[in-house]
Amino acid sequence: MLPVIALVGRPNVGKSTLFNRLTKSRDALVANYAGLTRDRKYGEAEINGRNVILVDTGGISGGEEGIDAAMAQQSMQAIEEADIVLFLVDCRAGLTPADQMIADQLRTRSKPTFLVANKVDGVNPDIALAPFYELGIGELFPTTATHGRGVRALMERVVEDLPEAAAPVEEEEAKGIKIAIVGRPNVGKSTLVNRLLGEDRVVVYDQPGTTRDSVYINYERDDKPYTLIDTAGIRRRKNIKESVEKFSIVKTLQAVEDANVVVLVIDAREGLVDQDMHLMGSVIQAGRALVVALNKWDGLEADHRDFVKTELERRLRFVDFADIHFISALHGTGVGNLYQSIESAYQSATDKLSTNHLTRILQWAVSEHQPPLVHGHRIKLRYAHAGGQNPPVIVIHGNQTEQVPSHYVRYLEKTFRKALDLHGTPVKIEFRTGA
Ligand code: GDP
Ligand code: GDP
Repeated sequence: MLPVIALVGRPNVGKSTLFNRLTKSRDALVANYAGLTRDRKYGEAEINGRNVILVDTGGISGGEEGIDAAMAQQSMQAIEEADIVLFLVDCRAGLTPADQMIADQLRTRSKPTFLVANKVDGVNPDIALAPFYELGIGELFPTTATHGRGVRALMERVVEDLPEAAAPVEEEEAKGIKIAIVGRPNVGKSTLVNRLLGEDRVVVYDQPGTTRDSVYINYERDDKPYTLIDTAGIRRRKNIKESVEKFSIVKTLQAVEDANVVVLVIDAREGLVDQDMHLMGSVIQAGRALVVALNKWDGLEADHRDFVKTELERRLRFVDFADIHFISALHGTGVGNLYQSIESAYQSATDKLSTNHLTRILQWAVSEHQPPLVHGHRIKLRYAHAGGQNPPVIVIHGNQTEQVPSHYVRYLEKTFRKALDLHGTPVKIEFRTGA
C-alpha cells in the first residue's frame, strides 16, 4: 500500500512549490484530476527510497463559503486519506487566523502532522518561528521550498513515521490474481463488480479485508481463486449513507498499486476523456497489467460505435499491448470474456524469464539493428536478465548504457515483447553499465 502524504495550508504558503520539488526527483506523473477533485493534485514521489503518493490539497483559507467551502471539504477528505500531513505556514506572513483555523481542524483529526514553516529565507528564524510554536501542532521544520533548504531534514523525519511497507506479493499468492476495478465516477464500476460476482460460476467468500475504503473480495470462479479490489465499495455502500464522494483518487492509485491486473472501466457513451487518460497513465507508471473495458456498449448507434473505436485507436496507441473489451455491465454482455484477457495479462506480467533466453533475444536485436555510436564509440549491450515481475523488468548490461537513446529503448522493448509474446502488461527496460 503506497503511503499518502497530504500538503495542507492556506493559499500561497508554498505547497505547490514543495510538491513540485518532491515529485520532480523522479519522472513523476503529476495528474491534475481537475473537475473530479477540484484543485487537488496528485503525484508520486520517491523519498529516501520509499514510494509515496503526494497530495497537494489546494487551499484552505478559513471561513469558507460556497465553492471555497467545497474546496475545504475536499482538502479535509485528502487529510482523512493521508498517513501523514504536512501543514505549511508562511514565515514571512507570520501566523494568521486561517492558520489557526486549519490547526484547529487538524487537531481533531489526530494524524501525524509536521508543521512546515516555509519561506524562512530572508527572515530572522528566531523571531519568525516563535509564533508558530504556539500552534502546538506537530514538530516544526523551517524550510525554503524554492531552494530546497530544510526539505531533506523534514523528509528524513517524515520517512520514519511512514507505515511499514506492504508484505511481498508471494505471501498472498493463495488468493489468486488481484484484480482492481477502477475508473471515473459513474462509468459502471459497481455494476461491473456486481456482475462479476453475480455470475453463476462464482463463489464469493464474503469476509472482505478492507483497507481504507477499497473492499477486497475473495472469490472463486471455475475453482480458481481471485481477489477483486472494489474501489467503488459496493459491498459497504448499503450500510453506510452514500458517501459524499465515493470516488477517490488516493483509493484508486492504491488499488492500482496493490493489484496484479487493472480493469480500467470507461464509459463508451462519454468517450475517452482526460481523466481516463490520466488513470491509464497511472496504471502504466505503476507497471500494472491492464485490461480496458469500454462499458455501456449496449444501445449505442452503429456510427457512435465506429466513432468510439476510431478514437480509441488514435489515442490508445501508447497502450496498444492492452486488450480492449466492449461490454455492458448492465446486461452482462462481454463481461465473462474479461477473464481471458486478465489471465493472459497476468501470465505475461509474471512469466519467468531466463537469462539465456533474454540474452539471446538481446543479441538478435542488436545484430538486426545496432545501437548508435556515441563520440565515435558504439554502445555495447552484452547480456540481459530478469529484474522483476508485474511488471516484467529486463535488465540489460553493457557499456555507455546511459547513452542509449529513447527510440532504441523502444525498439528493444518492442523486440522483447514480440519475442516473449508478452501481452497486456507494460515492460520495463533497465540498463547497467559494467559487468
Ligand atoms: P501554494 O498556493 O501554497 O501552492 O503556494 P505556491 O507554491 O504557489 O507558492 C506561492 C509563492 O510563494 C510563489 O511565488 C513561490 O515562488 C513562493 N515561495 C514558495 N516557497 C518559497 C520560499 O521558501 N521562499 C520564498 N521566498 N518564496 C517562496
Ligand atoms: P460507478 O460510479 O463507476 O460505480 O458506476 P455505477 O455502477 O454506479 O453506474 C452508474 C450508472 O450507469 C448507473 O445508473 C448504472 O445503472 C449505469 N450503468 C452501468 N453499467 C451500464 C451499462 O453497461 N449500460 C448502461 N446503459 N448503463 C450502465
